[in-house]
Amino acid sequence: MKGKLADLAFELGLFKPFAFLARGRGAILMLHEVHAGPNLARFDGTTAAELDHILTALRRWDVDLIAMDDFLPRLRSDNPRHFVVITLDDGYRDNFTNALPVLERHKAPALINVPTQAVTRDLYCWWLALRTLFIERDRVQVEPMGRTFDTGNPEAKIAGYREAQRWIAADFARAADWHAWFDAEGVSFADLCDRIFMGERELKACAAHPLITIGGHSTTHRSLASLPEDAMRAELADNKTFLEGLLQTPVDHMAYPFGGSAQCGPREAAAARTCGYKTAIAVRHGKLAAQTADDPYLLPREDAGYHGIGDRQLYGIVNGLYGLRTGLAGG
Ligand SMILES: [Zn+2]
Repeated sequence: MKGKLADLAFELGLFKPFAFLARGRGAILMLHEVHAGPNLARFDGTTAAELDHILTALRRWDVDLIAMDDFLPRLRSDNPRHFVVITLDDGYRDNFTNALPVLERHKAPALINVPTQAVTRDLYCWWLALRTLFIERDRVQVEPMGRTFDTGNPEAKIAGYREAQRWIAADFARAADWHAWFDAEGVSFADLCDRIFMGERELKACAAHPLITIGGHSTTHRSLASLPEDAMRAELADNKTFLEGLLQTPVDHMAYPFGGSAQCGPREAAAARTCGYKTAIAVRHGKLAAQTADDPYLLPREDAGYHGIGDRQLYGIVNGLYGLRTGLAGG
């Protein structure tokens, strides 16, 4: 009922006065996987059809879709038009195969933020390992949680996966303790990386595309705030050097892994600046104003890359009306 009333308010345009008061100059949107169909999107990410819907709606609302390279000049300009920057994190292969054709159709630029180890095939992508186990098995005994999940149907698989994921997300340092369990369950991270992330050839093709900019996303995709200062700085610097060497182009932008306030703060922002990045993006609510350009190292960003996003949610997040979604979000 509450949803229906909100939908009705949206249809009647009642959100708009609030949006006008709340919104800044624009918004940075975050997406991850862009699946061909809805099955995997029920676990994580969104679909190509939903991305198409998002971009269609943004065009209908007369929002400018701009590249990250144009972000700081736009903030400093007196151009009053509302803008959105599309970002996709982690370097999923489906960004190349499924998202790029949709971006092309809408002439929408995007920033794809890539951790080194996704490309070198040794990323400890625990979230994908967890999802695979929940999908493939009818019973998952999650030793690190001391829990057994009966996962005989899709709903139980999704619920179990979300619960385990939330358990790790409550403290990302916990993920390190799961490595031995994944090994014991026969998970091959090299195979997972091969199957799910872009390799060098695809990343180069993506980087050469006029709509795509490649950004940094650390070496190992761990929570940076949990690392000692030297290791944290190396995560940012080494990833930048790796991507610039591979792509033979400057890498000026980055997004912090996970990106919440428990995973990145002033220490990480200072490191991103010293590393030579022009911008660094977090995952948090916030208004983009002209003065944001003076210190663009903990930029706010909103999650738009989840299955089931509708016009109402989208209108809310691009206009600064937060809290329409309660779920797990992280870069
Ligand atoms: Zn990420």
